[in-house]
Amino acid sequence: GLLERLPDRKGLDRIWSVLPEARLVGGSVRDLLAGVPVHDLDLATPEPPEEVQRRLEGAGIRVIPTGLSHGTVTAVLDSVTYEITTLRRDEETDGRHAVVVWTQDWTEDAARRDFTINAMSLDRHDRLHDYFGGQEDLRSRQVRFVGDASRRIAEDALRALRFFRFDARYGSGRPDTAACEAVSEQLGLIGTLSAERVASELFRILSGPRLAETIAAMAAVGLLQVILPNPDPAALNRLLNCGAPGKPLLRLFALCHESSRVLFGRLKLSNADAARIAVWASDKPALSPGMSDDDLRRLRAEQDLDPLVERSWLQQARLTGGPDRIWDGFRSRLQALPQPQFPLSGKDALAHGILPGPGIGQWLKKGRDWWMAQGCLPDRAQCLAYLVAHP
Ligand code: ATP
Ligand code: MG
Repeated sequence: GLLERLPDRKGLDRIWSVLPEARLVGGSVRDLLAGVPVHDLDLATPEPPEEVQRRLEGAGIRVIPTGLSHGTVTAVLDSVTYEITTLRRDEETDGRHAVVVWTQDWTEDAARRDFTINAMSLDRHDRLHDYFGGQEDLRSRQVRFVGDASRRIAEDALRALRFFRFDARYGSGRPDTAACEAVSEQLGLIGTLSAERVASELFRILSGPRLAETIAAMAAVGLLQVILPNPDPAALNRLLNCGAPGKPLLRLFALCHESSRVLFGRLKLSNADAARIAVWASDKPALSPGMSDDDLRRLRAEQDLDPLVERSWLQQARLTGGPDRIWDGFRSRLQALPQPQFPLSGKDALAHGILPGPGIGQWLKKGRDWWMAQGCLPDRAQCLAYLVAHP
């Protein structure tokens, strides 16, 4: 049985004791079938959200009304959260905006979901409900839209990106032709999506498997060029070939290196991400394999080296475009260097007759400057000796 694959189903059983009609849905069912770890337990149920909340609370289960208006209630059991959503159907109104209404019909709820592999559900008797052939598609590694691909993308253009995210993980390497044609047909709608939604799907693609292939497929249908300014898949491939750490932001930067400002504006990156990108893009002297241990220690005492190390991967990608003994040796040398710590503090200043006030900082700075000039090697006694000799 599929439920046996869950490491712990006590929480689920408690939910099922008050909501016997509820079923696991979406990614959890797909991943149970695929035999990969399940990270979110999402349920759907025919009862309206207020009723779901009432029953759970009646059983002493903690409830967070996450999105009552969307039909979602979060149950918390032993600090595990479960999203429980009332079955929904899209009611067409003016043809542009769909109104969501509750339903009792499992097929209608499944029909709203994006891909056949995401549209299955699993009830408490461990029975699989598969309305659109998701199990077979999962087995044969086919990511297919539920219904007409073009219409489904017109309803929500984000599905074009979601298609490539899921195809990377569950596809065969040959993306569904109908889906690809539909994506190219509907490219004009991508611009209507919010930057946050696009960025969130894009980052999942960038941290996912088969990235080079996926990016190539997205470029082939024209999707990549619509979401990113002047993308350069070859530059990304060089970074991947170097064996750089799998950080999505670094990959994104490699993909669009010439346009970091546009990128920042278009994807509304966080300030922290923007600061990281500024270091990668700056033309200040970065790390180079020729640097001595003394230089590196000094640099490390002055600043956080992580962004510079990441930049070294970008440099390697540009210059070598593959594995490189010299760069690798350089980075392991860097890793082996201990983090230098200036050995004196304000207490030492006071103990050496410096009066409280700005003099303390000046005394420390003088010691620190000398210590750095010596490659951060002098110990506490040597620093004190220097300061005593140079009052
Ligand atoms: P993951 O394991 O990556 O979280 P997931 O399948 O849980 O995968 P989510 O984005 O968390 O993906 O969405 C949960 C489920 O909700 C999906 O499996 C799908 O059934 C449905 N879904 C989510 N977003 C959409 C969408 N834009 N259009 C249609 N259905 C969607
Ligand atoms: Mg999920």
